[in-house]
Amino acid sequence: MTDIDTLIANTIREDVRAGHIYNVPDASGYIKLDAMENPYELPEHLRQELATRLAEAVLNRYPVASYTTLKQKICANLGVPQSYDVILGNGSDEIISIIATATARQDKRAVLMAPSPAFVMFQRSAQFAGMDYVGVPLKADFSLDRAAMLAAIEKHKPAVVFLAYPNNPTGNLYDEADMVAIIEALGDTGIAVVDEAYQPFARTSFMERLPQYPNLMVMRTLSKLGLAGIRLGYLAAAPALLQQFDKVRPPYNVNVLTQVAAEFALDHIDVLNEQAAQLNQARGELASALAALPGVTVFPSSANFITLRVPDAERTCAKLFAERVLIKNLSKMHELLANCIRVTVSTPEENSVFLNALKASL
Ligand code: PMP
Repeated sequence: MTDIDTLIANTIREDVRAGHIYNVPDASGYIKLDAMENPYELPEHLRQELATRLAEAVLNRYPVASYTTLKQKICANLGVPQSYDVILGNGSDEIISIIATATARQDKRAVLMAPSPAFVMFQRSAQFAGMDYVGVPLKADFSLDRAAMLAAIEKHKPAVVFLAYPNNPTGNLYDEADMVAIIEALGDTGIAVVDEAYQPFARTSFMERLPQYPNLMVMRTLSKLGLAGIRLGYLAAAPALLQQFDKVRPPYNVNVLTQVAAEFALDHIDVLNEQAAQLNQARGELASALAALPGVTVFPSSANFITLRVPDAERTCAKLFAERVLIKNLSKMHELLANCIRVTVSTPEENSVFLNALKASL
């Protein structure tokens, strides 16, 4: 007779057995401000048109694995420099994992590095690929500690450094000169991945610098732009470098429905950009209202979320939860984030529910 616990002990990696499943709270009945989603849907007439296109999608065949049309649309519409290319992922989550898989060496432990605090999937993907993860603390104002980053690069010789621009969970853009110093220090020993998940809100990018730095890759996603549900991320770089990552990508990782929906959305990118502009405007208003509250520190954001410090994050989150508003308590993530919370910028109505509940918690 097979004993399931013995089976697990005999087969599953120790670090996986000791780990936990990525926690996504059930949001039904809640105002969901914990995942940086765009609260706006596509306008009704576009949804109808999309429905027709989806109905015509060929579902009995595998996707065409080259994804040529979608890739060309991304390159043409989203500022990928001439003669540079993209590979696609099932969300940028999958791309992070592809990057780790391709750079985790078998002859020695390779290092994946990021400033800290950073997006948690950098560390998780490094771990699952069998890499060592090195997090280099940011300064207290969440700016890059250039000297510490350069010293850590010298010491650990990372294969990859992830720089989220703007950073999650802090929301700020790093100083460009600090980023360039890191990219240059890596030279031909390490790859710099600039993660621009929040680029639609930041309106600044390293994309146009690709020709300057052969070790630079720029990763983006359609998630924050309003298409989190379709799961599409892309990675732009020089074709010769990209090809190496394409080797470890599962062949049909982007499904036909996603492909159709993404191509449709890119044909109507102006609608999504308009929504992003509206959210940027709302971010400014929400940030000002928050900054006026006693005991609240608002950190500058170039993303579609705001990170703030409150007197008692535990109490604030509990109060918001009781008012059926979901946000993220960052307090336990990192010592720089003591009593910090993160809230997605949403519609004026949802922002005001959040603001009132927050006020009541102070
Ligand atoms: N990078 C950063 C910095 C993020 O915050 C996120 C999502 N929160 C992602 C990547 C992953 O995005 P997705 O998998 O939806 O493309």
